[in-house]
Amino acid sequence: MFKRILFATDFSEPNLKVLEYLPQFRELGVEEVVVVRVINLNRLIGAAGGVNINEYIEMCQKEAESKLVELISRIESFGLKAKPVIPVPAGDPVNEIIKAAKQNDAKLILMGSRGRGLIKEILLGSVSEGVVRKSDIPVMVIKHETDVKRLFDRIIYAHDLREHSERVMKYVKFVADKIDSEIVLVHVVEKEERLIEDELKAIEEELSGFKFKTIIRYGTPHKEILRVCDEESATSIFIGGGIPETVAEKLLGSTADAILRYSKVPVFVAKS
Ligand code: AMP
Repeated sequence: MFKRILFATDFSEPNLKVLEYLPQFRELGVEEVVVVRVINLNRLIGAAGGVNINEYIEMCQKEAESKLVELISRIESFGLKAKPVIPVPAGDPVNEIIKAAKQNDAKLILMGSRGRGLIKEILLGSVSEGVVRKSDIPVMVIKHETDVKRLFDRIIYAHDLREHSERVMKYVKFVADKIDSEIVLVHVVEKEERLIEDELKAIEEELSGFKFKTIIRYGTPHKEILRVCDEESATSIFIGGGIPETVAEKLLGSTADAILRYSKVPVFVAKS
């Protein structure tokens, strides 16, 4: 399912900690890691005049290429094949990461996230949120400050009974089968009048044969999902990346956005 994945790196120390998880991706059947570093031209916007863009790009490319060589051999030391995206692309990181994934036929994008908080980050926008929004293939976002050791031992499968959550099922089952994960199926009821028993039963039937338990909560989905995640000491959260459907989601952003922003554990988002 995930023979070739794309790792997006900004070469920062915390981003490179994501590499420590690669042996766990090997357990999932990953064979090759394509590494992309984007020269971020958004940073140049508003910079003082007189910058020769071509010279700037060339200089950054040289610097990036030598760092990529080091990275590739680090990845190979985990027993994985690795290759850099060369020439190092220059442009908007989100678009270039998506393009690199397509051109290399990657099945998953693996990336870090600085988390939110600094004004600078809010102004510049989040690369991981942008990639999640635009990607057709699954994205796994590992927060830079996370302290999870084993990613897939105890996974939360957040299901809102809509189709986009159901699409995540195949990934949950695939991972649980490979790693022998425990699955915590979480559903948050927003409107009490809705009858959920039959729908949940159907989902539970699909999970029969796996180690799983179901937790039903009432309230705001992302808050309850994150609360369950803490209570259950879960190691990652699997969610469907929904295109906003309700008016509230369009105004406030989706549950997926909020989980990505506030989760301390890695988040796997799949849309297809
Ligand atoms: P965020 O904190 O949401 O902006 O996401 C940071 C993550 O985005 C990093 O850990 C990388 O995975 C990725 N990223 C950010 N900038 C770049 C870049 N210039 N080239 C490649 N990946 C990047």
